[in-house]
Amino acid sequence: MMYENLLRRFTEMSRAVFGENLVGVYLHGSLAMGCLNPEKSDLDLILVVENSPTFNEKRCFTEKLMTMRADAPQKGFELSIVKREVCKPFLYPTPFEFHYSDGHIEAVLSDLSAYIEKMQGTDKDLGAHFTVINHYGIPLYGPPVKEIFAPVPKKNYIDSIWFDVQNAVEDISEAPLYITLNFCRVLGFLKDGLVLSKKTGGAWGLENLPEKYRALVKAAEDAYASGDEMHADAEALSDFAEYMTAEIKSAILADPENVTGPMLTDMGVCPTCYSRAHNNCFFPNAAETQLFENELFECSLVDIPRAPGHTVIVSREHYKDMMELPEELNAEIYRFAQKAMCAIREVYGAESVYLCTMCDGPMNHFHVQLIPRYSYEKRGSKNFVKARQPYVADAEKIKLLREKLKNV
Ligand SMILES: [Zn+2]
Repeated sequence: MMYENLLRRFTEMSRAVFGENLVGVYLHGSLAMGCLNPEKSDLDLILVVENSPTFNEKRCFTEKLMTMRADAPQKGFELSIVKREVCKPFLYPTPFEFHYSDGHIEAVLSDLSAYIEKMQGTDKDLGAHFTVINHYGIPLYGPPVKEIFAPVPKKNYIDSIWFDVQNAVEDISEAPLYITLNFCRVLGFLKDGLVLSKKTGGAWGLENLPEKYRALVKAAEDAYASGDEMHADAEALSDFAEYMTAEIKSAILADPENVTGPMLTDMGVCPTCYSRAHNNCFFPNAAETQLFENELFECSLVDIPRAPGHTVIVSREHYKDMMELPEELNAEIYRFAQKAMCAIREVYGAESVYLCTMCDGPMNHFHVQLIPRYSYEKRGSKNFVKARQPYVADAEKIKLLREKLKNV
């Protein structure tokens, strides 16, 4: 393997710095996938530790790493230190203890202490890195991959790769080679379930993308193989980026198993509308908890209520908040809300029922909440933020509410 000597020195250095706390050192990325290009690639590593390393250990590690840069590929190292407990079971977004990449070299050289303080948190990219480790990872030290890393759920991997490509239309002219090949590997995964390297991603693109984009993929593939700069027309790049982003988005959205609510919001898709169009994927109890529906709105018990009888009224059409709502629809919903509040108070024996609507943001879907307050609870605005509790099905109450709301 290329850079074997350097990797051996790196591993010895890591063991010397972290001692018994070091669980393993794992190589991933292009070298592990067999397509490293010394001019275009970096060495990708994950260090797994038992407990959080100290500030001084991180400092010592980084200083020693700096002495190895001269022997590394042109783009140097990219590495993260993570605790064993986040690898199995896999946590996402994944917490990390330290991160270094040559892209941050100026910050490292100008103020290492500040850099170390800043470089911890969570990193969505680790979802993609751990997936590659699962398929191609090489332990340089420590137990086999399968012993340390749990498989990454498909949903997390997709979120991670979407996070990586979502700004690609704006960024492709800055990094045409990386983004072109990365687009191919992402679509290759979504369409064919393949975990691809940049090289095999390029090959997949040449075989599977429309004819008009193949010259661009070929240019990226050639530049990657030769180490030369990739030259491409700016318009062709942005046209390609738009096409690929749309393809990737529609491939992700095709399967509700791929997505989470926050991901949809991120993608500019309303989770409520999406769920409705996909068999109530986010509200599997929808049929059971629904109290009323007509062509304008529906009313249901909330599946994680703030109080027994917590109810929501949702417009059918997408409006982001009450200010957007057509006046007549608004009047209909509030007329209904009054009846529903009376019905809830009676059926649940509440002392009062509060109403609120606080939709905010373009991907919010207009809804009104009705929250009961019981005699054992204090009056006041804290009732709007009572702790959520598990939904307890009560068929008798649902039947009574449906009956009372039937003809309002
Ligand atoms: Zn909506």
